[in-house]
Amino acid sequence: MTWKLTKSELDNQNLLVNESLLSLGNGYLGVRGNFEEGYPKEFKSIRGTYINAFHDETEITYGEKLYAFPEKQQKLVNIMDAQGITIYIDDEIFSLFDGEVIDFERNLHVDHGFAERMIHWRSPNGKEVKLHFRRVVSFHTKELFAVDIKIEPIQHINQVKIVSTVEGDVTNFVDKSDPRVASGHAKRLQVSDVRKQDAYSIVKDTTYVTNLEVACVTSTIITSKTSYESNITDTGVKEVYVCEGNMPIHFTKFNVYTDTLRHGNEVVEKALAIQRDLADKTFEDLILLQKEYLDNFWSISDIEIDGDDELQEGIRFNLYHLLQSAGKDSVSNIAAKGLSGEGYEGHYFWDTEIYMFPVFLMTNPGIAKKLLLHRYSVLDSARERAKEMGHKQGALFPWRTITGGESSAFFPAGTAQYHISADIAYSYIQYYLVTKDEVFLEEYMAEVLFETARLWIDTGHMLDGKFRIDDVTGPDEYTCIVNNNYYTNAMAKHNLLWAAKVYHQLEKSNSLSELANKLQLTEQEAKEWQVAGENMYLPYDETLKINAQDDSFLRKGRWDIENTPKEKFPLLLNYHPLTLYRYQVCKQADTVLAHFLLEDEQDEETIRNSYNYYEKITTHDSSLSYCVFSIMASKLGYDEKAYEYFNETARLDLDNTHGNTKDGLHMANMGGTWLAIVFGFAGLRIKESGISLQPTLPKKWKSLQFHLQYQGRLIQVRMETETITYTITEGEDLSITHHGKSVTLEQGKAVELPIQA
Ligand code: BGC
Repeated sequence: MTWKLTKSELDNQNLLVNESLLSLGNGYLGVRGNFEEGYPKEFKSIRGTYINAFHDETEITYGEKLYAFPEKQQKLVNIMDAQGITIYIDDEIFSLFDGEVIDFERNLHVDHGFAERMIHWRSPNGKEVKLHFRRVVSFHTKELFAVDIKIEPIQHINQVKIVSTVEGDVTNFVDKSDPRVASGHAKRLQVSDVRKQDAYSIVKDTTYVTNLEVACVTSTIITSKTSYESNITDTGVKEVYVCEGNMPIHFTKFNVYTDTLRHGNEVVEKALAIQRDLADKTFEDLILLQKEYLDNFWSISDIEIDGDDELQEGIRFNLYHLLQSAGKDSVSNIAAKGLSGEGYEGHYFWDTEIYMFPVFLMTNPGIAKKLLLHRYSVLDSARERAKEMGHKQGALFPWRTITGGESSAFFPAGTAQYHISADIAYSYIQYYLVTKDEVFLEEYMAEVLFETARLWIDTGHMLDGKFRIDDVTGPDEYTCIVNNNYYTNAMAKHNLLWAAKVYHQLEKSNSLSELANKLQLTEQEAKEWQVAGENMYLPYDETLKINAQDDSFLRKGRWDIENTPKEKFPLLLNYHPLTLYRYQVCKQADTVLAHFLLEDEQDEETIRNSYNYYEKITTHDSSLSYCVFSIMASKLGYDEKAYEYFNETARLDLDNTHGNTKDGLHMANMGGTWLAIVFGFAGLRIKESGISLQPTLPKKWKSLQFHLQYQGRLIQVRMETETITYTITEGEDLSITHHGKSVTLEQGKAVELPIQA
């Protein structure tokens, strides 16, 4: 069983990458896997603690600023550093970069929910100690980050000194050479309160522009100390514990973080109250609570692969980080890098809806609902943005955002990606199909669908009997501002037709009038949605028998991927955007993705031809690409390809194959691993007619097992080389489609079928 990620040596070259891999989080709070004691100056560290959605705003400086370019950008803020713990062994500072590291092991336990470092160290003066560091970001008390250290003298030691700090003077990380990492505005917080109250250290910071407050209230426990002092500086608190005598020492530090977005204005008082509630808890209690939470999570969300330990490790690692990153409070969402780093500045993209939301939808619909509610909470901003962008009506969701304002400064590959509004609508529809939650439909989904449908009507136009959408960008960011991007049009069609359907459904059940009044919605509009949807123009090339990515795509020259030197990838870091736009070259799946999400739009021949065509011109420079190609290769029977692409997703961060894991984990790709298994190898599809599966087990594997939540049921799916077994373990009987044939599943009865069609 592979339930832990282990690093058994101190790898100086990969310190930054390991900070991301061993980061901890719970959807609210995230802490990078830094060393408490830090590194020597010559090694870079991105020392980070983040609260999901806790942000400041910075001005965007443009050379030439045109109308409706966003003026401000939101930015996830690196908050107070409570990781700091320096240990002196008889006056020598403990450092893994000094003396001799006799033994070193570092683990992330994805079943117990903690990270640890186990070290046997000999100081430069020959003093030997064993140190055991453990840390938890609690799923039970979301505000809590705790560190626990055991120090065991191996040789006689006279004195151990522990210096524990909470530092409020912190900055964000900058990298001027990479557009995916912020290049300025590093300092976003000022210290607004530092003090001791009873045994608690208190540091409060305030953001410069948004005026949001964050408090960190810390308490410590130490088994034996001979002296103690605390120093309060302008920016933080330093506590010094001296322990005389040669004995084991146990030190625990509980840091509670609260913020204005969740805790209102009394952030310090709220943090103190949480500390008091935790007063009787030990670190061991926290670990037990983590285990309880995770047992529950894994009992439904685990994917068991028999036949490849490395991939098993990859999938569990990815699922764990997804859980750690997902906002579960409807105030926040899932940032492109989760809470593991500062890449993409903590922004939420379409990554959530298309790549991560489905994982939660099928395993943990409660979290899926919260993600949708977060989007609902920014619907007003999306309405405003639509107006700002010249639309008479509708809602345009921002390409990248935290609390709803568009934060994209490069509109061709940002704001122009109008498809995000249809992606959000798509995820609402999927949620409805999986939960049949009629109340949710009435209260939230209908409004989102209606407002996004309005956007399409206002963006597109009828020409020669077809509804067309001009000057948008599809998912492929190497082809920008085009007419009739297949993906966008197909998704908009789905959005429009569902909006019309929901309109009539609510009308029939007499539950439309309140919303119709609020939105001043008329039957005529619903008719327009129907007509536009039914007549949506979907580009098709008669010669190639494929869907053209857009009106002009197939007339461009083809980029010679094979003869492009390896060091020129990703192309976006080596070519001007215009150069890329002039060629047929895709950063990521675009039309192929539309064929996955809306497979009934085209016949299988078109889907196959399109896959074969686009595969040759796709660089996969975006990590969002492999899983889609894996899913579609599975569908088309290209089993080896499906497996190869799956391999790329499963260990992308573990093996740092994109070279930028240091800036944070690739969360959409992590969701993509699950998608490649469940929608790919198992061939799951969710439609109005119900769920269907079309399974094929990768040749190397002996078995694959996972669970699905569907309309109040829990379904276990077990795939083996010859057979597949479906068992409803909770909930009522259900008919599903297996390789095109209807099968009825009765609760508790395993149904075994041949795995092949
Ligand atoms: C991809 C986008 C994605 C963004 C954030 C970009 O590289 O092209 O599709 O939304 O990264 O993950």
